[in-house]
Amino acid sequence: MTLVFATNNPNKLKEVQALIPSHIVLKSLEDIGCYEDIVEDAPTIEGNAILKAQYVKNKYGYDCFADDTGLEVTSLHDEPGVFSARYAGPQKNASDNMNKLLINLATQTDRSAQFKTVIAFAKTDQIHTFEGVCKGHITKERQGDGGFGYDPIFRPEGYEATFAQMALALKGKIGHRGKAVSKFIAYITNTTSQ
Ligand code: IMP
Repeated sequence: MTLVFATNNPNKLKEVQALIPSHIVLKSLEDIGCYEDIVEDAPTIEGNAILKAQYVKNKYGYDCFADDTGLEVTSLHDEPGVFSARYAGPQKNASDNMNKLLINLATQTDRSAQFKTVIAFAKTDQIHTFEGVCKGHITKERQGDGGFGYDPIFRPEGYEATFAQMALALKGKIGHRGKAVSKFIAYITNTTSQ
């Protein structure tokens, strides 16, 4: 079975590939010759995931899943949320985004936050969505140099390490994307074995 994962982010591909059963072959956007920048202008995380998956299905014909993730910070009224990638501006720079978040949280005592991932799966004319949440806290400074995005400043609940200090396998197991992927895999395993 071949599925397109609507991303060219090598970190995401690696994370998801490690979680997907080996009989499912993943192709990236580059693998199918899709080089355009798919516009993500929906007002919600779920909306953006659906938009990406549907775009690829409609234009290229492949069954496709897409993910969208947002970091929701309690004391900032769930910001940056759907704006996580461009929090500090259209350059979508992870370092600038973390700096902005650390500055905005400097005077806050509540540093609780959660990552939310929604996976949208576009198959024939149907769309299915799967959500994964990981609760945690924003640290006062960056810790670790693994992972990507906000990983150096996010410490998941129950752990002393940030995502950037964790092995990929552990992040995959307890993280937002891993949880959403598990639900997605359970769905495709059920529907393809009938
Ligand atoms: P998207 O899912 O690629 O749209 O991600 C939105 C923003 O959240 C980007 O700035 C990503 O770098 C960041 N992000 C997505 N997933 C993760 C993650 O697993 N860890 C840290 N940051 C993430």
